[in-house]
Amino acid sequence: MLMTPQSFSTETLLNKQNVESNQIDGLIQHLPVAIYTCNRLGYITSFNSAAEKLWGRTPVIGKELWCGSLKVFRPNGKPIRPDKCPMAKTLKEGIAINGEEIIVQRPDESKINVLVYPSPIFDEKGNIAGAINTLIDITEQKQAERRQAMLAAIIESSEDAIVSKNLFGIITSWNDAAQRMFGYSEIEMLGRSITTIIPPDRQQEEFMILNKIRKGERVEHYETYRLSKSGQLIPVSLTISPIKSVAGTVIGASKIVRNIDKQKSIEDKLHRNARNLEILNSVGKIVSQSLDINEILQIVTDATTKLTNADFGLFFYNMMNEQDENHILYASSGVSKEVLEKTGITGDMAFFEIMFANKGIIRSGSIDGDAQQEEELPLYEMLSTNLPLVSYLVVPIFSKSGNIVGGLLLGHSLENKFTREHEYLVSGVASQAAISLDNAALYEKVRNLSEKKDEFISLASHELKTPITSINGFLQLIDQSLTGDSSNKEFIQIALKQIRKLSGLVSDLLDVSKIEAGKLPLSFSSFDFVQFIKEIISHFQFSAKKHHIELSCDVEELMVSADRQRIEQVMINLLGNAVKYSPNANLVKVAVSKNDNNALVAITDFGIGIKKELQENIFTRFYRIEDLPHMPGLGIGLYISKEIINRHNGTLWVESEPSIGSTFSFEIPAE
Ligand code: ADP
Repeated sequence: MLMTPQSFSTETLLNKQNVESNQIDGLIQHLPVAIYTCNRLGYITSFNSAAEKLWGRTPVIGKELWCGSLKVFRPNGKPIRPDKCPMAKTLKEGIAINGEEIIVQRPDESKINVLVYPSPIFDEKGNIAGAINTLIDITEQKQAERRQAMLAAIIESSEDAIVSKNLFGIITSWNDAAQRMFGYSEIEMLGRSITTIIPPDRQQEEFMILNKIRKGERVEHYETYRLSKSGQLIPVSLTISPIKSVAGTVIGASKIVRNIDKQKSIEDKLHRNARNLEILNSVGKIVSQSLDINEILQIVTDATTKLTNADFGLFFYNMMNEQDENHILYASSGVSKEVLEKTGITGDMAFFEIMFANKGIIRSGSIDGDAQQEEELPLYEMLSTNLPLVSYLVVPIFSKSGNIVGGLLLGHSLENKFTREHEYLVSGVASQAAISLDNAALYEKVRNLSEKKDEFISLASHELKTPITSINGFLQLIDQSLTGDSSNKEFIQIALKQIRKLSGLVSDLLDVSKIEAGKLPLSFSSFDFVQFIKEIISHFQFSAKKHHIELSCDVEELMVSADRQRIEQVMINLLGNAVKYSPNANLVKVAVSKNDNNALVAITDFGIGIKKELQENIFTRFYRIEDLPHMPGLGIGLYISKEIINRHNGTLWVESEPSIGSTFSFEIPAE
């Protein structure tokens, strides 16, 4: 009789009547566990709906052998021949199999892991009448196991230490990486407090972390230090998450600990490089701009001491003096001048020569160690007796001509403090300093020469002033003694005019040296500026033969407090220039006005004008525009005028157009 799966019956199997068989059939039919039976020959005789569902198909009763699935495999994936399947084996051998794992493939190719329990059924005579098989689907369990194994593998193979602990901080798991990182084995750490690996001064961190975890919060990328078994501090980044029970309550914490030692050292290196760059940049800027030798020496000494983390730095510089004698300048950083002077090495040419004798960089790890080369021995002796240092770095500095002009000595009280990187840094700064020192030395020479020139001008103008004054006096006496219009009187008049001109030039030169010395005397008084300008112009008009000086005044009266003589000097200079530099014109305009609270004068000529790019220069000492047809002058009138106006808190400026003319204006505060 063919049975449908809905009418599962042991009766069919045993061909035997049973009073309760119908009830049992119903029960089996609805069991969630797959059950089926085969007869003695292995033909399927019945199966329940769970079996049908598990196989994913409906086998034909009485026609199909041993199993409802067409393909079964061993857990390792090898196919099992149908006649070798557990059911076939049970039927053949009459032995029950207690949970063998097989894989059942459904028609849709999905696979399920199953535990099978085939058990033989015997007839009354004890012969095998068939077998009943129970199939338990363990696919989900298997998947969970795989996930678990994967997770365990991930945790074990992780480079980061992964640790879990309960809410009392007691460690509940400890992976391989944790063992590698901290040196404690899993056995040592399970059951121990996490504070074992927290440095004593950071124990309060655990309190803070547990507080957060209890509230169900995460702690992310917390950078701190942890302690290894050997007592080494390890820089770490921690991420700590709460572990929750199925019910959702926090029962502990999982902690991922990353060793950021490498990252930290890269960060440190980056910081160091950034700091070095900053120092180099600022040194470069100041050193290239400065022309002061002492300033350059000091800046370079400070910077190189900082760059190399030296205890102290010394910079010796051989500045030849005017007599071409050696004169050793020095700058120091990290050690006081008093201490240095006591050692007697500063300014000592012998020391200088020994230090830079081998003309190269010397980097010594320890002053007690042997000198690398014989010629370094004297230096070793000298340093060890004079300075409190153990390791040192000597970097010479060469001038443009290739001579050693100086060098740096950096010292440290500990051994091996200087590296190749320090050598590069210091020699970089040193070569930059060499150029600046060359420039500064050159500038120093030029400045000395310029000072000499100023001294000469001052001396010469003083020396000239006295004879000129006396010649002028005697000429005037002769002039007064001569009567009528004798030709002698005419010659004396010419001589007097020339001596006045000479006297004016010498006075101007004297003024220049007074300005340079900051000693140009001014004497202020209150007067009407308009009237004052009018008087100057009418006097000036006398001597100006060709040019008409046209005056316009916007105001009638304008009181100022100024030095009359000096302002007159400015006016005469500007009017003189206006006439001198407009040889083809015959008009000069002077305008007086009040601008804000200033008295303003503008003197306009219609002469040769001044190119825009030269307009700044004409106010500097001894500057004359060169490509002009020769006009007499020393190039100091505008320099003196500007100084006088500046000293009145005023301004002097020019607006000019070549071939059109110039307007020189100045203003001084009105009362
Ligand atoms: P000096 O006239 O004795 O050379 P200054 O200091 O008075 O000296 O003037 C400096 C230079 O400025 C002159 O050499 C000249 O080249 C230029 N300069 C001054 N005033 C004028 C002007 N009004 N027009 C054109 N150039 C002028």
